[in-house]
Amino acid sequence: MTFDEMALIQPLLQAIMEAGYTEPSPIQAEAIPVLLSGRDIIGCAQTGSGKTAAFALPILQRLSKESSKQIRALILTPTRELAIQIYETFRYFGRRLRLHSGVVFGGVSQNPQVDALSRGLDVLIATPGRLNDLINQGYIHLDGIEIFVLDEADRMLDMGFIHDVKKTIKLLPAQRQTMLFSATMPSEIESLAQTLLNNPAMIKVDPITRAVESIDQCVYMVDKQNKVLLLTELLRKGDVKNALVFTNTKHGADRVVQKLSQNGFVARAIHGDKAQNARQEALNSFRDGRVQILVATDIAARGIDIPELSHVINYDLPDVAETYIHRIGRTGRAGLGGTAISFCNIDHVDSLRAIEKMTGLKVPVCESQWPM
Ligand code: AMP
Repeated sequence: MTFDEMALIQPLLQAIMEAGYTEPSPIQAEAIPVLLSGRDIIGCAQTGSGKTAAFALPILQRLSKESSKQIRALILTPTRELAIQIYETFRYFGRRLRLHSGVVFGGVSQNPQVDALSRGLDVLIATPGRLNDLINQGYIHLDGIEIFVLDEADRMLDMGFIHDVKKTIKLLPAQRQTMLFSATMPSEIESLAQTLLNNPAMIKVDPITRAVESIDQCVYMVDKQNKVLLLTELLRKGDVKNALVFTNTKHGADRVVQKLSQNGFVARAIHGDKAQNARQEALNSFRDGRVQILVATDIAARGIDIPELSHVINYDLPDVAETYIHRIGRTGRAGLGGTAISFCNIDHVDSLRAIEKMTGLKVPVCESQWPM
């Protein structure tokens, strides 16, 4: 099945095309038609399967039919990183619709979140603790919820959030569409599913999908002080049309750009300390090919879309495994294939193992003249 055959509305099809998604991932192909029909689902799928778009697209379509000033869709997810990624997906696909999405998570001041809530949201993405806090303070009401998504239910359990989740569930209207996603189905999640869902369709996809599989991946084990040498060598090799290079810090991004510039490359950095117009300018030059290398932190790279990206380079491996999937998912779009190269120094060996565990694949190790 193609996206065009899914009875999706034009503004969504357009955004899908702009995202460079040429065909639906297996979970999208199975879940989108079922969800558009209004049925509940249990999806056995992990990050990397394309599950976010699988639920975001039908939700946006359903909500676009009318507008109201209440929260109508609630997505509960265990981590701040996932919450932000899901929020970005809703923003991206919903940008031609008159709908407002917002995100709340703990560990930061609640004030900007409360402000956003007071302006009125259609879709709320939340982590369980902060959601309950804001409900208790009277900032969030769930009586208008029409669609509820429980994302990564098994991780909610592992992370000790299940109590908070159950509290939230008690506040939901009985009449609603519900989706539960979980990579595994421990018995506690199975019994929760029985009370939560109404005659759900079961959709199971392999943990690893083309979204990640179509990307050539490799990792270089390299000492920190040799990373710049390795990067310049790889960029000189010739098959790098353009590269998005990720560092974990703003300072790191600036340093990489400085070193690349000294070596004759045209590179720019985008990160939170750069003014919005400087970021936009760097991004435009990268898109139209005047700049070959864009060095970014995760926060700055959020939501930016570069349809023809030949390489993603993890100059620093991310500490959170799902960030890796989102970084490398930026290449390989539009059926163009793509390459993701990572540098792993001794401090990041554990991160590499966590990434391999999450994707279920070993990242092939490449050799260089600077072995660790
Ligand atoms: P998710 O599992 O939702 O976290 O998505 C993992 C990555 O796959 C993200 O970077 C998505 O942008 C990308 N992705 C999702 N669906 C597709 C698709 N149909 N074609 C290509 N890439 C996709």
